[in-house]
Amino acid sequence: MTAKTPVIPSARLIEVFSAIQGEGHNVGTRQIFIRFALCDLRCHFCDSAHTWHVPKTCRIEQTPGLRDFEIYSNPVPLPILLESIKQQNLPALHDSISITGGEPLLHAAFLVEFLPQLRSVTGLPVYLETGGHRPEELAMILPHLNSVGMDFKLPSVSGESRWQEHTKFLQLCYDSQIEIFVKIIVSNKTDLADLERSANVIAEINPSIKVFLQPVTPLESTENPTQEIIVAPSPEQVLSWQELMKRTIKDVRVIPQTHKMLNQL
Ligand code: SF4
Repeated sequence: MTAKTPVIPSARLIEVFSAIQGEGHNVGTRQIFIRFALCDLRCHFCDSAHTWHVPKTCRIEQTPGLRDFEIYSNPVPLPILLESIKQQNLPALHDSISITGGEPLLHAAFLVEFLPQLRSVTGLPVYLETGGHRPEELAMILPHLNSVGMDFKLPSVSGESRWQEHTKFLQLCYDSQIEIFVKIIVSNKTDLADLERSANVIAEINPSIKVFLQPVTPLESTENPTQEIIVAPSPEQVLSWQELMKRTIKDVRVIPQTHKMLNQL
């Protein structure tokens, strides 16, 4: 009888790099971004359509911030990924690690193995950026996370309708006492009824959960093949929506994508 060779977990990636977080609660902080391939949603405003499928290769930055990428074949074995992140993690440079995508929770089986090792090797907090529609997969990795940023998809803006999943997802995060915030992308087509309903869902779990309204960044037509014409909201719209949400949620902030202003990856 021959002994089975242990299977080394491996990651289907788009890229790994060091950058300034441009969205939500961590805006302005320095993070190592680990961007996973695959997404099961098709948001109209998606600026990451290149993540929807697994490419043959991915790119991993060698020196933080220098964009000196090396190309690796997908999937990348866990020890190789860990080693390259160790190399990026210069003393005192990074505030946290962003697990992003695509939809990173499509890789929950890999993350269960990877995240405890990632935390112990880097000593950095782990932040999950997610569409917030896969509560079962979230439950698998919750003990290995420090914070979660959940996108709340408004049907009128994203074309996706995930009310029940979002409710379950947020409740799970809140019950686990993890740090959580909600990001809502708004365009000129935002339906007031959607905004009110999302505020009620969040407030029923806890009105202290922070909400970030993010005016959509109009896309180049090549960035998302399924996209409609996306138009940013007017300043008057954003002011009135913040006022509306503050009736139920304590902390509602408006932050556009600052990394795009910096012309940063
Ligand atoms: S969840 Fe994110 S990656 Fe997926 S389609 Fe929506 S915006 Fe794009």
